[in-house]
Amino acid sequence: MAKLYFRYGPMGSGKSAQLLIVAQNYRDAGRRVFIIKPATDTRSELIESRIPGVEARADLVAPTGLNLFQAVLEAHAQAPLDCVLVDEAQFIAPQQVNDLFLVTVKLNLPVIGYGLRTDYQAELFPGSARWLALAQLEELKMICRCNRKATLTGRKRADGSFIASDKAENDQILMGGSESYEALCPLHYVEWVGDTRFRR
Ligand SMILES: [Zn+2]
Repeated sequence: MAKLYFRYGPMGSGKSAQLLIVAQNYRDAGRRVFIIKPATDTRSELIESRIPGVEARADLVAPTGLNLFQAVLEAHAQAPLDCVLVDEAQFIAPQQVNDLFLVTVKLNLPVIGYGLRTDYQAELFPGSARWLALAQLEELKMICRCNRKATLTGRKRADGSFIASDKAENDQILMGGSESYEALCPLHYVEWVGDTRFRR
């Protein structure tokens, strides 16, 4: 039976690059993939990776309220799909993760979401919490500047300094690439971002 997968990792762990590689592998095998990107990510419908030239267009840029089960069902009815891939999966609304869970059960299509587990305050995104509850989990690895495994993501100002974990200078949903975020090990997260989120 097809499964729901959540491949999570901090900023820079190659989530979009891996999505694009999986999409290409399916297409090379003559199979059809359906790529979803949440509309929250307003940068564009293009899915870009850090690898130059490795990019693709999303088949669906999904607003928060959209029923993704219905959307996939309709695409599948037009031409049978083999896999559903979701970029920036942390921005998919919890109810939409439920929709995708039903895609795996009722349509027997595998669904793979690529996203962040936590925000720069080390808190789960609402969508990520739902993925963690329902999906098979696969961690994408990334290293900190110190070569330790990075498990958290810090958010940086233009001058390169980190925004403290207890300062909500903007909302949780803030786009940006590697210039705005950095994957950190727990030690450097506490040292550079701060420990106020963890202290009593
Ligand atoms: Zn470190």
